[in-house]
Amino acid sequence: MSEISFTAQVDRHFYKAAAHTKHPPGLLEQIRVCNSVYAFTFPIRKDDGTIEVIHAWRAEHSMHKTPTKGGIRYASHANQDEVVALATLMTYKCALVEVPYGGAKGAVCIDRRQYSDAELERITRRYTFELVAKNFIGPGIDVPAPDYGTGAREMAWIVDTYEQIATSKLNAAGCVTGKPIAQGGIRGRTTATGLGVFFGIRETCLDKGFMKDLGLQRGVGGKRIVIQGLGNVGYHAACFLHDAGAVVTGIAEYNGGIRSQSGIDPRAARKHFREHGSLLGFPGTTDVENSLELLEADCDILIPAAIENVITDENAGRIRASIVAEAANGPTTAAAAEMLLERGVLILPDMYLNAGGVTVSYFEWLKNLSHVRMGRMEKRFEEASNRRLLAAMEAVTGYQLSEAVLGTAAKGASEEDLVRSGLEDTMVNAHHASCEVARRHGVDLRTAAYIMAIDKIALIYAERGIFP
Ligand code: NAD
Repeated sequence: MSEISFTAQVDRHFYKAAAHTKHPPGLLEQIRVCNSVYAFTFPIRKDDGTIEVIHAWRAEHSMHKTPTKGGIRYASHANQDEVVALATLMTYKCALVEVPYGGAKGAVCIDRRQYSDAELERITRRYTFELVAKNFIGPGIDVPAPDYGTGAREMAWIVDTYEQIATSKLNAAGCVTGKPIAQGGIRGRTTATGLGVFFGIRETCLDKGFMKDLGLQRGVGGKRIVIQGLGNVGYHAACFLHDAGAVVTGIAEYNGGIRSQSGIDPRAARKHFREHGSLLGFPGTTDVENSLELLEADCDILIPAAIENVITDENAGRIRASIVAEAANGPTTAAAAEMLLERGVLILPDMYLNAGGVTVSYFEWLKNLSHVRMGRMEKRFEEASNRRLLAAMEAVTGYQLSEAVLGTAAKGASEEDLVRSGLEDTMVNAHHASCEVARRHGVDLRTAAYIMAIDKIALIYAERGIFP
């Protein structure tokens, strides 16, 4: 297994890309380093009356744009190096998909399965309180979001705690994204990262050049997919791919996996996982006790969507997928990535592929600051305009459309329609731009994404006159 830390791996990608730019070394160093890390501990009372000391972090990697932004993870493997690496990735990711934030990340070192709901609520509220006390959270300061082990419920506890103690309440809802709709969330955030993963894979599969090089047919339809992690990102990505005609041939969870060449319905698999606490025994599939074996399964697209460092120099030589689609952050070590690239495997980098989450978080934050639901002002007007246009066409052609057709064709955009459209536009544009940079520099897609991010951040510093 690779010896270098997660931060060192991110830096390795950075230096590889930086060599293709002409920025002064001092500016590159300013872009690379992490600006602030807050490491802290706090006590919580457990349900049995005992007290436990919890370790937590928040890293703000770059303030070239504010607020900073990044998820909060609850994981027993969390540590400061990982938090800094993930905050760093967030900076580059935001720059790549043009969402105006610096990168940040937070973590609480717990295995959430070992805590009751009441204990998780106490941990989340106390974590938020500590962030407020040190000015590490706020709609214009640093805006967390869900990540591994957290979801809308934790974000609701965060916004509620923040609102109770914030001195200015007007924009308080914008202190965190990924909230439930009733707490100021946006429709489409829960599925956003998985949908973004789908858009990235779809665009790649439509690319004639990539498919020819890999000896694959164009299109998502019929592609054999193996997914690791059936959580928020993996589950939704699997559903969108399944609905588009891809065949999910394997799913790996932490406590076992399943395989089936004829395909697995991800919705039914998740239902089974929730009811039985394991994928094992899901009807019509073969159990794989050691789910790591599924990473090496014969498939077209392998989607690691759980944790980092699962594809290492130890197993990279046995990966048989043509495409590794990094839905999780940092699933492939730098050494493993080089081995895969040498063998002609196409890697869709995390920095690009899972950017759908922060993109829709950005839309949610805009909604919170504007205090109006997207589409509220124009939906009905748009529908009436479309109906007038269709009526004029009917008058000219003499052809009468049915009410059902009229209803669909004239429909104004809802909040979810706008969110999906903005997300698709972002993912499609970033895909084509990074392919263009990759071809121009003769580099892989990850290096291209880093080059783009570095150039964009450097431009911001230059425009401010900080580094003329
Ligand atoms: P999640 O907690 O909802 O799901 C993670 C899933 O992976 C769980 O079902 C868990 O049981 C499973 N898992 C854990 N260890 C495993 C192992 N060793 N083998 C197989 N399965 C394992 O988390 P998530 O939000 O889906 O995040 C997954 C990854 O995606 C993380 O790397 C995260 O940083 C990244 N990500 C998440 C978002 C988001 O919006 N949630 C956005 C960008 C990136």
